[in-house]
Amino acid sequence: MRIIVIGGGVIGVTSAYWLRLAGHEVVLIEQDVEAGRGVSAGNGGQLSYAYVEPLAGPDLWTKFPSILLGLDSAVRMRPDVSVDSIRWGLAFLRHCVGKRQSESLKGLLMLAAESHRALAELLSDVPLQFDYAAGGKLILYRDAKALQSAGKLAEIKKQYGFRIEILDRARCLALDPALSRYGNPFAGGVHAPEDAAGDCAKFTRGLYERLRDEMGVETLSSTRVTHLKTMGGRVAGVELDTEEELADAVVLANGIDAPRLAATVGLRLPIEPVKGYSITAPARPEAPMVSLTDRAEKIVFAHLGGRLRAAAFADLDGWSPAVNPKRAQQLQALARHLFPMAAHWNEAEPVWAGQRPMTPSGVPLIGESGVPGLYLNAGHGGLGWTLACGAAKRLARMIE
Ligand SMILES: Cc1cc2nc3c(=O)[nH]c(=O)nc-3n(C[C@H](O)[C@H](O)[C@H](O)COP(=O)(O)OP(=O)(O)OC[C@H]3O[C@@H](n4cnc5c(N)ncnc54)[C@H](O)[C@@H]3O)c2cc1C
Repeated sequence: MRIIVIGGGVIGVTSAYWLRLAGHEVVLIEQDVEAGRGVSAGNGGQLSYAYVEPLAGPDLWTKFPSILLGLDSAVRMRPDVSVDSIRWGLAFLRHCVGKRQSESLKGLLMLAAESHRALAELLSDVPLQFDYAAGGKLILYRDAKALQSAGKLAEIKKQYGFRIEILDRARCLALDPALSRYGNPFAGGVHAPEDAAGDCAKFTRGLYERLRDEMGVETLSSTRVTHLKTMGGRVAGVELDTEEELADAVVLANGIDAPRLAATVGLRLPIEPVKGYSITAPARPEAPMVSLTDRAEKIVFAHLGGRLRAAAFADLDGWSPAVNPKRAQQLQALARHLFPMAAHWNEAEPVWAGQRPMTPSGVPLIGESGVPGLYLNAGHGGLGWTLACGAAKRLARMIE
């Protein structure tokens, strides 16, 4: 089949890879001058297979009053007032109560396990340089009670084949001595030794180049898809600014723009932007080597080839991609406070912001769209780097 993949982010390039491997003729279309400049550009870098908890859950429900009053530092909510946003918000709230979060979590754990294996397969076929660090991940918990309930959840995760260990404070310090200078108190952590970190933008660009130069994928950069094209009741290609491209099937892998294109054929996708921020600075010898998540502050740190990246915040504040200077300053201050000696923060790159394409449940949309000829690989929210390879391989299987 001739298949068009729209979007040169990590989801689009991995989709193109597995579709090509399955023997299809693949056209990959990216509106930017190069791949990996959307939300895949500056994310937290964590390949967080054992920690895929959706944003919507009972945890968040208890914090709603303070979030709505703007008192929660990690999550902000000032969404657009449109029918789609309200509909999305109500579905999100439904996922904050009852058993829905644990159902979503099970699905995400299965996909994460597939993704872990699929990335290893891809790298043995196409070696790529992307500051990959297979040093595990540690999730810090501030108090003993939170650590204890994380321990219960760890037992469930082990049933999915994940290796997880609960560490007290002393064992956390033994694992990574950089934590002796950590700016907040913590009681202990949950360690996932098989988790990893890597630069998602470098991976995405590297794979895009291999697809173009060695695997026979036709790549069109600086090319924006304006509409999906239908013929005889099915999606039969895409419309560009001045021309059209025809195909047997089209994959929407264009992140936050997927709902707009889906709407051109009357399809409503429940995806809203959830903005996050990151800051990257040259690492000092005192930087942590293990990839870290502070559960209370909802901030992550990853050591990416001599650089330390901190990423945080989940802001439902509409469709503008602009950096909010207040949030940028908050992230700078938080990163310095937590790890003052870990990086040359004065030499940091400008704070980056990206829009996570989020479904209400946190579970991505993969496979048939309901419109003949149109497939989805979208809505990966805060986990697209972790889930990309599993999602892409699953999509290729579904198209078969
Ligand atoms: C602060 C932050 C931290 C994060 N940390 C992590 C993490 O540690 N681990 C993790 O797993 N995930 C993390 N994520 C989430 C992850 O970055 C995303 O889930 C993932 O990058 C989504 O990839 P994508 O390919 O769907 O989107 P994108 O990377 O945005 O790619 C979509 C591409 O489509 C192109 N495009 C859009 N519309 C069109 C069009 N009409 N025509 C042509 N091209 C088009 C865009 O230019 C873009 O290149 C984080 C996100 C944020 C914001």
